[in-house]
Amino acid sequence: MPSYATDIQEYTADEFKKDGINIINETYVKNCQKNNDGSDEVVLSNGNIEKFGLLVWSTGVETLPFVKKMNCEKDERTGRILTDSNLRIKGLKDVYSIGDCALIEDQFYPPIA
Ligand SMILES: Cc1cc2nc3c(=O)[nH]c(=O)nc-3n(C[C@H](O)[C@H](O)[C@H](O)COP(=O)(O)OP(=O)(O)OC[C@H]3O[C@@H](n4cnc5c(N)ncnc54)[C@H](O)[C@@H]3O)c2cc1C
Repeated sequence: MPSYATDIQEYTADEFKKDGINIINETYVKNCQKNNDGSDEVVLSNGNIEKFGLLVWSTGVETLPFVKKMNCEKDERTGRILTDSNLRIKGLKDVYSIGDCALIEDQFYPPIA
């Protein structure tokens, strides 16, 4: 839940723990597959494989291909175009970026309408 405020993240993590939900951070899903005994498993980028009964996918949306191709400074984690507080793209003159594809440097606004 990186797009939410820290207190909301912490509250959710606490509630999940109370419900016995195991949270695995700092890794991403590489594959979902059936293993040899026919059960379902998810392969993580940290090399671990976790079995699951129900998989709920909520990874959000990816940066647009057009934005990926743009040759300008981007946020490393999200791929969003970095701007100053006036939404000017960093390092460019009179070029602006707004909406989900933009990120004001050192500030965080969730990607919502
Ligand atoms: C499933 C889902 C549910 C959501 N629910 C909510 C909600 O309940 N409340 C809320 O506030 N927000 C919600 N959001 C987020 C909200 O939709 C976005 O924050 C908002 O639409 C961002 O607006 P935008 O104009 O930046 O981008 P977008 O609305 O994504 O518009 C980008 C546009 O650019 C076009 N485009 C892409 N590439 C090119 C190109 N090469 N040339 C020309 N055009 C191009 C696309 O077709 C699209 O029309 C939701 C998003 C999703 C995916």
